[in-house]
Amino acid sequence: MTAAPALSVAGLTVAFGGIVAVNDVTLDLPVGARHALIGPNGAGKTTFVNLLTGTLKPTAGTIRIGDEDVTRLDTRSRVKRGLTRTFQINTLFAGLTPLEAVSLAIAERDDLAGIWWRRLGGFPAVRDEAEALLSSLRLIEHARVPTGELAYGKQRLLEIALALAAKPRILLLDEPAAGIPAGESREVFEVVDALPDDISVLFIEHDMQLVFRFARRIVVLTSGSVLAEGTPDEIRRNDDVRAAYLGSTHV
Ligand code: ATP
Repeated sequence: MTAAPALSVAGLTVAFGGIVAVNDVTLDLPVGARHALIGPNGAGKTTFVNLLTGTLKPTAGTIRIGDEDVTRLDTRSRVKRGLTRTFQINTLFAGLTPLEAVSLAIAERDDLAGIWWRRLGGFPAVRDEAEALLSSLRLIEHARVPTGELAYGKQRLLEIALALAAKPRILLLDEPAAGIPAGESREVFEVVDALPDDISVLFIEHDMQLVFRFARRIVVLTSGSVLAEGTPDEIRRNDDVRAAYLGSTHV
């Protein structure tokens, strides 16, 4: 018997006035997926992720986490069911250290967030879990440095650590390596690649070298619709994808 997908989307559609930004998208994310979502600017990638998280409500279609229909659930309820995304730390957490920020995210998950964060030292289990998470993301040496002073690559890793603190089954990454030098972006994707197999990942990425190196499957979106879905080899050889998006890019 095949396991149910971690996430399945059927006929998902959203229109803004006359623009159909996401048009009848049907997609399964199997358990352990490392899927890339690619496509030209304005193809609807971010809008699709916003539909998955519940920030936007669809005009039509359904979203399931495992066997459960979550289409009408709000973002927080989806996070509780294991669907989470990264968010920008730049403004929110600049004064905190990674250890403090991840401890807070763990406390939030466990409904301890009402406790003033300075007292989190009184919760050794939270601190131990935060340190373990920071180690697995290659951040432990930077655990006590204000996040505003971290290199951009480390900040991106911290964003992933904060999302992982929610213990997600499905992790959505919208350009996780945006704005960082090539050497550092590779490290971000190495960390994503090495996440446990029970975490399913969908990432948006514009750098095709990274996509073709790290994605195990690729979904190509154009004008809100899925143009193609397949392994990197299948996508590389797909003439429609070449014509619509990849052009002469060497991948
Ligand atoms: P990029 O690669 O540039 O980030 P994208 O593939 O993520 O692009 P989206 O940002 O999802 O594309 O945009 C898809 C389309 O929907 C665009 O035409 C955009 O202008 C439109 N759009 C997105 N959000 C809204 C909104 N809130 N109201 C109106 N139109 C919107």
